[in-house]
Amino acid sequence: MYIFKHKLDLQSFILAQKQAGKTVGFVPTMGALHQGHTALVKRSNTENSLTVVSIFVNPTQFNNAGDLAKYPRTIDTDIEKLIEADCTALFLPEVDEMYEEVISGEFDFGYIGTVYEGEYRPGHFNGVATIVKKFFEIITPTNAYFGKKDYQQWLIVTDVAKKLNTGINVVGCPTIREEDGLAMSSRNLRLSREERAVAGKIPKALFYLKDAVGKTNFNEAVDNARKSLISDDLIELEYLDIVDSKTLLPLNSWDSVNGITAITALKVGEIRLIDNLQLTE
Ligand code: AMP
Repeated sequence: MYIFKHKLDLQSFILAQKQAGKTVGFVPTMGALHQGHTALVKRSNTENSLTVVSIFVNPTQFNNAGDLAKYPRTIDTDIEKLIEADCTALFLPEVDEMYEEVISGEFDFGYIGTVYEGEYRPGHFNGVATIVKKFFEIITPTNAYFGKKDYQQWLIVTDVAKKLNTGINVVGCPTIREEDGLAMSSRNLRLSREERAVAGKIPKALFYLKDAVGKTNFNEAVDNARKSLISDDLIELEYLDIVDSKTLLPLNSWDSVNGITAITALKVGEIRLIDNLQLTE
């Protein structure tokens, strides 16, 4: 696997590959890699001639300095996992390499940028869009792979790629879960044993809702799911809503033309986790 720290080196590598007729898949990550990330690499490998993964803990998408400082960093094992997943090239820039010029321009994502993660993490999506745009310009991938684990982010990146006329195909990939259903996340590494056990209540609540569709009264089901989380002293629920899968508008019945998705964010102890589950197509 090639490792590039400087964008110019990566760009000349990619240029040579493209001139040889190769297609490029891109998987942006913040490291502390797990099977959720390597599933994206494997998917990319099946659909492109080669795969570029970036590992960059992007400071502009953190609205909380403590969260940024404590974000897990496991670069040696990350490299091993990428080699095992058959990644072609790793882009590992320093912060200065990505932010040498002044950051300018605020993105307007409309309604979907203002709710849920947009509301609870002010500036987060601007930071995400800023770095994704930079990566897209440097790497010019054919396809870019994002996890639906970060559902709202996937919607926003898809929209940004389209509005900027990048021609890049943004591919949303399914959430990979632990045995008890907990969505894999780099932040899970920061959970204590007790917190990790409690976190298993998140997928339980989501899968309960999926099972309740059309069978249980909507409001009763949502109440039950919320109660199953807030009843635990270690959990601080930020939101659990059922929304239209495309518009993210909150719903009050099981029906919506675009299908429905349950989305949630909460803290287990100090650790903030998000998850979602598509309930109907
Ligand atoms: P992160 O390193 O957390 O910024 O994630 C990098 C990419 O991996 C994003 O597109 C995430 O949505 C995706 N991802 C993270 N966790 C999972 C998971 N459990 N399943 C699928 N994709 C994931």
